[in-house]
Amino acid sequence: MAPLNLLVGFGLSLVIAALAYQRGSLAFSGAVGAVIVGTTIFAGGGWTWGLLLVAFFVTSSALSHYRARAKEPLSEKFQKGHRRDMAQVLANGGWGALLAFSFAYAPQPILFIAFAGAIATVNADTWATELGVLSKSLPRLVTNGRMVPVGTSGGVTLLGTLVAFGGASLIGVLAFFANLFSPISNFLVVPIAAVAGLLGSLFDSLLGATAQAIYYCDYDQQETEAARHRCGRDTRLVRGWRWLDNDGVNFLASVFGSGLAAIMYRLAQGL
Ligand SMILES: [Zn+2]
Repeated sequence: MAPLNLLVGFGLSLVIAALAYQRGSLAFSGAVGAVIVGTTIFAGGGWTWGLLLVAFFVTSSALSHYRARAKEPLSEKFQKGHRRDMAQVLANGGWGALLAFSFAYAPQPILFIAFAGAIATVNADTWATELGVLSKSLPRLVTNGRMVPVGTSGGVTLLGTLVAFGGASLIGVLAFFANLFSPISNFLVVPIAAVAGLLGSLFDSLLGATAQAIYYCDYDQQETEAARHRCGRDTRLVRGWRWLDNDGVNFLASVFGSGLAAIMYRLAQGL
């Protein structure tokens, strides 16, 4: 890694994380995580990689504040509030940081495509979560199409799916323009990131509907993603694997999206 990139990456990440902490988008541990992830991605990949991360971070933070009061009644379903902590930051950016670290030692274009797929996935998923819950129609479970209450893990809406595609496409377009004047410039990154991000976010929903740990608070008679409900009482597991929480699902989805992007890139090269 170039020392200058490391220094600039650290400085930029520190400023952005401090602002997000002050604004209430990040908890303190989340700010520390954001500095680690941001510095690694900028130092390993350079500003083109950093741009995608910043686009994800800024738009997701803005959307989580958007109509926050309308979303407030749903917050008891979710595992955590909108102040993102270290685990959430690593779940969304950790895989991308590992790819950037690899890129520093083996600068292959496919690693950038895989990175774009990972960020497209977490961007698509966050946009869909933040805006999909505002949908007027009830979500349907991605596995069997059954209608479920708003905020249910694995529930999808048409609005959320369209928004996911938009969030993934934005990352693809930025990835294309960021490399416009570089030798690895390739328009393919736009459709690849758009499709990988959309499918990655649907994979996230699929895991949310099947493998993710979902609990039930007997006292409030509510389903929740949290092992301990907001009311302070312990909950009981009703489905999924105890070790796989929402953060784990997000991380696995980002790995899935980046793998899809890499496979599509290889297939396209073989044409
Ligand atoms: Zn409760």
